[in-house]
Amino acid sequence: MTVLFPGSFDPVTMGHVSVIRRASAFADRLLVAVLDNPDKTPLFSAEERVQLLQEALCHTNAEIEAFSGLLADYARQKGANAILRGLRTPGDFEREYRYAAYNGRLSGIETIFLPAAPEFVHVSSSIIKEAARLDPTRLAAFAELLPPASLAALQKTFS
Ligand code: ADP
Repeated sequence: MTVLFPGSFDPVTMGHVSVIRRASAFADRLLVAVLDNPDKTPLFSAEERVQLLQEALCHTNAEIEAFSGLLADYARQKGANAILRGLRTPGDFEREYRYAAYNGRLSGIETIFLPAAPEFVHVSSSIIKEAARLDPTRLAAFAELLPPASLAALQKTFS
């Protein structure tokens, strides 16, 4: 079973790492795909986000690469049997349920969901970035929520 986990990962958090670790228990091949979307302006470039994922996942056999364009096409091209997404809140579910329907229609590939681990259910790259922007001196408070490389990259960017 080839499972594709797409996302922005701007930057990767322990919430993402937890989903990836748990999926590697049932996936034969786990591909983590960093969306390089020209319409979005991420904090970190696609190359930096791939690098941060590589450091965070060095003890797993997940494969990491950047992609652009339609997820459904990329998933088909990679031979994925399932697209994986994580769910934290009912809001995540509402959005993801719709994406799953579109991706299914476009590719015939099922989307599967893993619930956020309770300890990381509140963890979000965007909220962490917002807090870091407002007061970078408080970043250490998020040390347990971020892989060390992501924390260091945020500290470097904002300080
Ligand atoms: P996107 O812009 O595609 O939502 P993200 O990097 O924000 O990219 O998220 C990628 C995937 O990881 C999504 O399925 C998202 O719901 C999931 N995710 C993000 N944070 C967490 C978390 N703390 N726990 C579980 N899943 C998460």
